[in-house]
Amino acid sequence: MHTTPELGNLRVTTHPLVQHKLSILRDRATPTRLFKELVEEIAMLLAYEATTDLPLEPVTVETPLESTRAAQVSGKKLTLVPILRAGLGMVEGALRLVPSARVGHIGLYRDHTTLEPVDYYFKVPGDASERHFFVLDPMLATGGSATAAVSSLKRAGAARIRLLCIVAAPEGVRRMHDVHPEVPIYAAALDRELNAQGYILPGLGDAGDRMFGTR
Ligand code: URA
Repeated sequence: MHTTPELGNLRVTTHPLVQHKLSILRDRATPTRLFKELVEEIAMLLAYEATTDLPLEPVTVETPLESTRAAQVSGKKLTLVPILRAGLGMVEGALRLVPSARVGHIGLYRDHTTLEPVDYYFKVPGDASERHFFVLDPMLATGGSATAAVSSLKRAGAARIRLLCIVAAPEGVRRMHDVHPEVPIYAAALDRELNAQGYILPGLGDAGDRMFGTR
């Protein structure tokens, strides 16, 4: 894991498999089905990176031969929270790694007068203060959705939140750092910039459209 110090809590994975898969994902010729599979695979690998420091507790296990001391992840079930719609594409991959995880959902729209993101859907487990949350959104562009999603989780009582995205723009990373400096961001790439339409450059286009074939 490579950390870019000048961009706060961003951790960009340099794992060769992640970088290889990301190159295929960026390719405009990659078809929908492969795109979806790659998003899942990268999400699984990002989830691996984002869980390396989870707290463990001792447990006693009966092997077929004897009793032994072992370890298990302590606390309540982890909770994945995709931001609708593109975040949905990362859920299955993360669940492959953490099959017992709970899945919340956050849907946001931009208010035309205030231009601020507003929840139109928010559902997470009730005991939020006791859980580790992993917010999923493949593209961290302006950071508007990610910061709003994290704010909503905090209002619901969440204190341990991590953000997993595939491609991050410097603008989004800075905004996250300004608003939620304690939230670690795990990404497969830090790209150059946003264009005037809010797309990440070089990026991979509209992740939701490419994933769901709605282009
Ligand atoms: N959302 C996307 O899907 N792609 C971008 O480049 C920016 C935001």
